[in-house]
Amino acid sequence: MSQNDNLFKKIMRGEIPSSKVYEDDDVFAFNDISPVAPTHILIIPKAPIDSLDELTDDDATTAGKLLVAASKLAKKLGFSKDGYRCVINTGAQAGQTVPHLHLHLIAGRDFIWPPG
Ligand code: AMP
Repeated sequence: MSQNDNLFKKIMRGEIPSSKVYEDDDVFAFNDISPVAPTHILIIPKAPIDSLDELTDDDATTAGKLLVAASKLAKKLGFSKDGYRCVINTGAQAGQTVPHLHLHLIAGRDFIWPPG
């Protein structure tokens, strides 16, 4: 599957509907279609980066912006004080199913550690 055709690219282009919660020049965020918690947001870079494993020094700013967006959303949506979890599944064994870097921002319930 080419980068132009992956699911999240289509969502960013508006070809597949999504529930957008945040967007800026570098980052797009939308609600996960199968939430695992009361809040489950996917934060993705607009740049075509397949996974965390692809990152180079040139991507440091973009990658950092995913975390900044998560922190901003936690405050804006009101779960910053209670706590939240950020997850980046990377590769098949970790359960990555969409080949475009994405950070899961999940909140609104207790989480266990270690994760499953
Ligand atoms: P991962 O398994 O880490 O690759 O995460 C991919 C995520 O994309 C899963 O949590 C899916 O529920 C989510 N997902 C798949 N299709 C859509 C969609 N059309 N809109 C929003 N989220 C989706």
